[in-house]
Amino acid sequence: LVSLGMPSRTVLTTCAYCGVGCSFKAEVQGTGPATRVVRMVPWKDGGANEGHSCVKGRFAYGYAAHADRQLEPMVRDSIDDDWQVVSWKEAIERIATGFRAIQDQHGVGAIGGISSSRCTNEEVYVVQKMVRAAFGNNNVDTCARVCHSPTGYGLNHTFGTSAGTQDFASIEQTDVMLLIGANPTDAHPVFGSRMKRRLREGAQIIVADPRRIDLVRSPHVAAAHHLPVRPGTNVAFINAMCHAIVDEGLHDVAFLRDRCEDVEIFLDFIRGAENSPEATEAETGIPAAELRAAARLYASGGNAAIYYGLGVTEHSQGSTMVMGLANLAMLTGNIGREGVGVNPLRGQNNVQGSCDMGSFPHELPGYRHVSRPEVREIYESLWKVTIQPTPGLRIPNMFDSAIGGSFLGLYVQGEDIAQSDPNTQHVEAALRAMELVVVQDLFLNETARFAHVFLPGTSFLEKDGTFTNAERRLNRVRPVMPSLVGKDEWQVVCEIATAMGYPMTYADPAAIMDEIAATTPTFAGVSFARLDAEGSMQWPVNDAAPNGTPTMHVGQFVRGLGRLTPTVYVPTTEQTTRRFPLLLTTGRILTQYNVGAQTRRTPNSMWHPEDVLEIHPADAHVRGIATGDVVEMASRVGSTSLTALVSDRMQPGVVYTTFHHPVTGANVVTTDNSDWATNCPEYKVTAVEVTVSTQA
Ligand code: SF4
Repeated sequence: LVSLGMPSRTVLTTCAYCGVGCSFKAEVQGTGPATRVVRMVPWKDGGANEGHSCVKGRFAYGYAAHADRQLEPMVRDSIDDDWQVVSWKEAIERIATGFRAIQDQHGVGAIGGISSSRCTNEEVYVVQKMVRAAFGNNNVDTCARVCHSPTGYGLNHTFGTSAGTQDFASIEQTDVMLLIGANPTDAHPVFGSRMKRRLREGAQIIVADPRRIDLVRSPHVAAAHHLPVRPGTNVAFINAMCHAIVDEGLHDVAFLRDRCEDVEIFLDFIRGAENSPEATEAETGIPAAELRAAARLYASGGNAAIYYGLGVTEHSQGSTMVMGLANLAMLTGNIGREGVGVNPLRGQNNVQGSCDMGSFPHELPGYRHVSRPEVREIYESLWKVTIQPTPGLRIPNMFDSAIGGSFLGLYVQGEDIAQSDPNTQHVEAALRAMELVVVQDLFLNETARFAHVFLPGTSFLEKDGTFTNAERRLNRVRPVMPSLVGKDEWQVVCEIATAMGYPMTYADPAAIMDEIAATTPTFAGVSFARLDAEGSMQWPVNDAAPNGTPTMHVGQFVRGLGRLTPTVYVPTTEQTTRRFPLLLTTGRILTQYNVGAQTRRTPNSMWHPEDVLEIHPADAHVRGIATGDVVEMASRVGSTSLTALVSDRMQPGVVYTTFHHPVTGANVVTTDNSDWATNCPEYKVTAVEVTVSTQA
């Protein structure tokens, strides 16, 4: 796994996988395009990892030099044609001419762009600027749409800002963890290890998850409460937790009085009999006595911290559930100091940053709505353009509009929407309907099958910039080698904007960050010079917090008073039937990552070369399924084949798979259901049936 040899130099940089954001010293040999990484050594002074790492960050970097890398721009007139290699100049002119022609014929709103949470803050910032200034619309979205957009909505609504409240180190002060819809030992391994260490020291944990994840099974956390909440019923569950706390008089009356608003409205709502543990027991599958015991522990066990993942957000009530978690924290005063809080475990390396950088159709950088004239004025005077005051299209709206014939040009940066977005058939139909699809990526991914222009992208080993991790920490990403494709991605975006008639240039990524700092109060004190001198910084960094902000909402919430919100439970429309009697939920494994574009091109692929379907022994028995059988999994929208793994980690009635491999393609079966507020897909609830195709 490790290239052998003596390094000639080291470069301090940041892992490009998950939202923990581990710092590494890349030990390298050679110079220029011949540079080779000898090994990645986790940095002992890394703010997020303190010398620790997982297998992905340490070993799974070989994809950067994989033979599949496309190093030259390519074009074709039709997706049925062969690719033709062209110069950068020709490719960029083709894009500019094509996008302008679409706008001339169909209006300025007929094109848009999708930025990537795998790219740097600086790369994402220039994409949203290109869309707003050169395209002239707000049709920019990010792959956070399909993961943590409900976090943005829910935490902004309740606390006033769209980010986790604590730093990772805060867990050292935590007595009780509520872990819901996340599997940190696989998806955020370095933080998962930190959780285990704290549990060994005596902290307690409540795990709310339909699957018996490792943190439930580990011997040292045998006392954990495992609450296998039925997929789709999270909001009923969290309301029952709040109900039990109020019912037993365990809420923090002083905190509610001094720090929150809409208190009586919320208390009246949550006291409703329909929210009691007893009333919700049949819906959630959690016995009332167990739920009450967990609620008592959370409310009175000392400092209680909530950690959550996509099992919270990827639901039709994802935003409601995030607000429910905020309700629970405020109700018990577990917010605004170390050891507590509401903490989304962000998935991709820079999903926090891609949201921070204004890559949403309704928000400019720093989560400021495009309808606010005083915010638009900042950018209009600097960029010398007029910014549209109304939100643009979200990713699902882009697909629907493409099929409807009104959205015909798309630039996609480092995001494989044809594999990662739900209802693959619908996504493919939308891409086929477009006149010009531009994909910028390392590899000819699934989306590139529908592209007319392919622009080669750069790996993290070639990037210069910053990533922002799940604790709002900006880490430097430094190039260990020059771009293998002859240009940096931010330069390419600037050249597209310029070719479309809007001149856009920067001296380097540091200059982009200077513009971000000058226009976004949250980042006012950030610069590459400071990051290089101080290692990392947690936003907000400004006059009020010159050294950054490890813990947010101390003394008062960003929005002033915390907003308690009646979180009415609305069952998902995706219910089981006689034809589809099982519920599918999805997740990650340690050695692969998301759609696997990177990890499948490293030796990791030898360890888990395919997605498998986990099924409870009782469900397997009645269907005649044994481990190793090839099974057909069908939903209302499609079907796919997987290898079965009979496992008592599952609950009866619930099956589970990962989504790392395009061949199995879990999203062939996921539906168009989405969060009511953000359109985040409901990946975590799909009614399916599973039948044997081939016996092992
Ligand atoms: Fe990279 Fe996440 Fe592993 Fe750290 S925990 S090395 S950031 S994948």
